[in-house]
Amino acid sequence: MKVEIISTVAELTEVVRGLKKSGRTIGVVPTMGALHEGHLSLARASREDNDDTIATIFLNPAQFSPQEDLSRYPRTLEKDIERLADEGVGYVFAPSNEEVYPNDFTTSVTPPAVARRLEGEFRPAHFGGVVTVVLKLLNMTCADVAYFGQKDYQQGTVIRQMVRDLNVPTEVRVCPIIRDQDGLALSSRNVFLSTEQRAVALSLNKTLLHVEAQIKAGQRDGFEVVTEMRQMLIDSGVERIDYAMIANPDSLEMADPIVLPAVALIAAYVGETRLLDNRVFTEG
Ligand code: AMP
Repeated sequence: MKVEIISTVAELTEVVRGLKKSGRTIGVVPTMGALHEGHLSLARASREDNDDTIATIFLNPAQFSPQEDLSRYPRTLEKDIERLADEGVGYVFAPSNEEVYPNDFTTSVTPPAVARRLEGEFRPAHFGGVVTVVLKLLNMTCADVAYFGQKDYQQGTVIRQMVRDLNVPTEVRVCPIIRDQDGLALSSRNVFLSTEQRAVALSLNKTLLHVEAQIKAGQRDGFEVVTEMRQMLIDSGVERIDYAMIANPDSLEMADPIVLPAVALIAAYVGETRLLDNRVFTEG
């Protein structure tokens, strides 16, 4: 099937109406483009679960603060569309900024309390921009299921809560982190890493694996784990750590003592590039 590229909300509404009228189920995969295997894994999951898949490509300015990397964020629209077509995705919605935020746009969604932790401390406006655009995309696509990656762990938690709080009739599915062979979590921002920086970046996953080993060995002191995480990252050459934390997987409150299930999360800079990674630990 040929991929249909949609750039306006009016066209999208028409397509969605047609699909719904024929009783077809819709999966949506929201992305900011510069697609990699992580994004494609979400597209695959959606194709498996639903009759039709709409991938959205929108580099949402509202979730970047003025000093962040919006202007240098990689843009590869043509290639993204090709890759989605190769995956058998039927529809790509790639709107302009004006289409999503017309001049008279003034409403926004206040994110749930869990958005104030971790990312929220370092990127205070970020989740407001995320939940507003995600709610708009869910409304525009009338999706039965929306797919997100565990790579952005807190984002999944925030969106689940928003969907629950606002009674959005879309199911949220969070899919596993896709990694490169060396363990680095795939990210559109990895293209900024030099060979040396990439080696340093591997320490995020290594640190999380170390935490896993510690927990398996019976470590339950959250404070000790966090101290070790920071030390491991610094020793590996990570220049700036926004957070390195072990937390309850739902509330994202620090887990001390560690009670399973728990999640360890890292946000850190390697050079100018901000990287995220996390790992969930369950009983057994
Ligand atoms: P982004 O384009 O960075 O906003 O990401 C779009 C979606 O892809 C988000 O739900 C991300 O969590 C997800 N994603 C990004 N990287 C990965 C990865 N390495 N594995 C799985 N999902 C990912």
